[in-house]
Amino acid sequence: ITFADLGLPAAIVSALARNEITVPSPIQKMAIADALEGRNVLGRAQTGSGKTLAFGLPMLTRLAGRDDRPAAKRPRALVLVPTRELAFQVVDSLTSYASALGLTVRPAVGGTPFSRQADQLRRGVDVLVATPGRLNDHLRQGTCVLENVEITALDEADQMADMGFLPEVRDILGQTAQNGQRLLFSATLDREVQSLVRQFLADHVQHST
Ligand code: AMP
Repeated sequence: ITFADLGLPAAIVSALARNEITVPSPIQKMAIADALEGRNVLGRAQTGSGKTLAFGLPMLTRLAGRDDRPAAKRPRALVLVPTRELAFQVVDSLTSYASALGLTVRPAVGGTPFSRQADQLRRGVDVLVATPGRLNDHLRQGTCVLENVEITALDEADQMADMGFLPEVRDILGQTAQNGQRLLFSATLDREVQSLVRQFLADHVQHST
């Protein structure tokens, strides 16, 4: 099975080939078609499994596919991650595919000047990749609004739970569109992650690698 068979558009398939990615990984084979259909997806997958593209490529494809696509302004998709390092990795992993579709991906993490980030947000971004602490700062200051977020991915949800971020994650998810799509990826599915799934991933499909 190829990336094209999974339903990804030609622009993404060519961009994958340019990055020498030609064979979908197991989690990509399982999750991409469901995510493209707009379903809520729970993916149990480790780092190195290809999970970033498993949630990122369907997210970008669905954002680009809308006919009534607004000019990039408020973010329409959100990726929540536990650490800055992972945020930068996710931005790096998705940027070439986003550009292929005319979309932008930007980080919002601690450790970089708040006001410069706020300027970037004001100029407009399609996909925001954020750590919960810094994103909450932006929400409180009014420099970011999530009501246009249609798709949210939670990456390494178990790490976010271990770091004590779930109260902030819940606040954030509560500000995204109520009938929006959620994609949650985690290496383990312990009790805290399961409670998040129950609260925010109605009718999800689960895939494990
Ligand atoms: P991740 O599990 O998302 O952190 O991805 C781990 C690494 O695998 C990243 O450097 C990706 O670029 C790469 N990768 C993702 N999917 C594939 C694939 N289907 N074939 C080869 N490499 C891939």
